[in-house]
Amino acid sequence: MFDYDDQNIFAKILRGDIPNSTVFENEFALAFNDIQPQAAVHVLVIPKGPYVSLDHFAAAASPEEQVGFFAAVSEVCTITGVKAGFRAIANTRGHGVQDVPHFHLHIIGGQQLGRMLPAG
Ligand code: AMP
Repeated sequence: MFDYDDQNIFAKILRGDIPNSTVFENEFALAFNDIQPQAAVHVLVIPKGPYVSLDHFAAAASPEEQVGFFAAVSEVCTITGVKAGFRAIANTRGHGVQDVPHFHLHIIGGQQLGRMLPAG
């Protein structure tokens, strides 16, 4: 059901083929600054395993991978100091307007954000 394309840009980052601005790394996850930040803090947290999307990761990643991933999310929240709040977004496939087919969680904050979606 989930086909992973290892030529996607985040797979290249994980292989070290292209550089990234690393915020945190552990055995199971890498966190780096988004190249086109939408707010003062905009970090992407990605698993090191080949998962296309949040639902793929939730269904197929091992408990160790899932714990390691969320440990990285926790570290990113501490490192970036988003105590006043933040937004975590996982755009998924077509309806979710996902551009890069390697699961990533956007951690966005560092300033007051607007409503998630337009009202109505
Ligand atoms: P999405 O639409 O959820 O797939 O978001 C993909 C995100 O990846 C966008 O916010 C891009 O700005 C970001 N992005 C693309 N290429 C890079 C890169 N080389 N380094 C860091 N962020 C990137």
